[in-house]
Amino acid sequence: MSHDPATVARMQLEKAARVMNLDPDLLEILRRPKRMVEVSIPVRMDDGRIRVFKGFRCQYNDFRGPFKGGIRFSPDVTKEEVEALAAWMTWKCAVVDIPFGGAKGGVICNPFELSENELQRLTRRFTYELMPLLGPDIDIPAPDMYTGEKTMAWIMDTYSVFKGHSEPGVVTGKSRIIGGSEGRREATGRGVVVVADEILRLRGDSLEGKRVAVQGFGNVGSFAALYLEELGARVVAVQDLTGTVYRTEGLPIQELVDYVAEQKKQHEIGKIPGVKGFANVETLDADAFWSLDVDILVPAAMENQITQDNAPLLRARYVVEGANGPTTPEADEILFKRGVMVVPDILANAGGVLVSYLEWVQDRMGYYWELEEVFGRMERKLRKAARDVYTKAQEYQTDLRTGAYILALERVAEVFYERELFP
Ligand code: NAD
Repeated sequence: MSHDPATVARMQLEKAARVMNLDPDLLEILRRPKRMVEVSIPVRMDDGRIRVFKGFRCQYNDFRGPFKGGIRFSPDVTKEEVEALAAWMTWKCAVVDIPFGGAKGGVICNPFELSENELQRLTRRFTYELMPLLGPDIDIPAPDMYTGEKTMAWIMDTYSVFKGHSEPGVVTGKSRIIGGSEGRREATGRGVVVVADEILRLRGDSLEGKRVAVQGFGNVGSFAALYLEELGARVVAVQDLTGTVYRTEGLPIQELVDYVAEQKKQHEIGKIPGVKGFANVETLDADAFWSLDVDILVPAAMENQITQDNAPLLRARYVVEGANGPTTPEADEILFKRGVMVVPDILANAGGVLVSYLEWVQDRMGYYWELEEVFGRMERKLRKAARDVYTKAQEYQTDLRTGAYILALERVAEVFYERELFP
């Protein structure tokens, strides 16, 4: 049995609502997005012909502040996926207590088959189609799968051209020279490790010497792996779209990062950059990855990776969700019964949006902090959120995901009752 991501997000919400006894009227509002926009994006391809792509922006909820959420370019994008990701952004921003609501965008396209110029035209036209819905006080996009600093620069520039002045605060995840923040690039992956560290500490445990497997070696997975190594853990396996590499004494992460970065730089059309071909490591079958003898598993690729089929095979004691929605509700239940602690996405990968918030604040001040300042602020807020979620889960005798939802829903509800309903 598999559910679409929007159904998964709704199942999680409804479970938390049941456990905390949430006001059914408020649940009725929160079960669906405030706004879902579908746009057609005509793009002049390099060969002179026009192709029309389909894109979405879901603005799920803005009770707590402007909509905030990434944009994904992938052939697998669906409306339901974008809706789920936007809902998760809403709860995530509330879990770490920043004044944002939740949104997400996606374009159905294969970025590996498009040239850089085509990607630029696609991004600019998508931005144009969404113009009236975006803005530093309205909705602030960021990178997600297969988008990055360059994509954000194109969005910022397009928006600014139409406004007639530079508006850096319209996106986050930009490069530093155009108003990005120090540390944003590393933030999500580093945050995953900070949260893992705090949760393990609460259990009287530590990252030191832990064996870790990481799925996904993009922005989130690669920086998580680097920081895990720094804190004394051993990343023994990495899996991405191109393959699975393994070394029992620990992979040389920086070399692996450089190896993938080099391929990305070349942007060869039709070639997926990844770990495949990296020298002096064992390669494994994709399925073998799930039953590896590790202490911690970090899914940092995409949704629906840990399912009822592979959840019984996991040997890890912790699953720390770098990706959004990697664990299905059925797998969640299996893991909970087996005593595997799942640190949920809306807490574990919130370092990204936290530093996005700090980037937005800096853009509005026109004053920029040094790296230590940014990491310090991120870390304090993340550790507090981890402790709050842990306490909430204990209070309600439930799993960390439900604990995180309850914390988020209490905060969203509080604002709703204060502001009340228009008209
Ligand atoms: P990315 O495009 O930088 O990297 C994606 C990685 O996942 C690549 O290594 C790719 O090969 C791998 N991958 C994709 N499908 C896979 C599959 N089926 N099996 C194995 N590997 C696969 O993307 P990212 O920004 O690192 O995002 C990864 C996840 O983290 C997504 O779920 C995203 O929503 C989430 N996330 C990202 C951020 C951020 O700041 N970038 C913040 C919060 C959450």
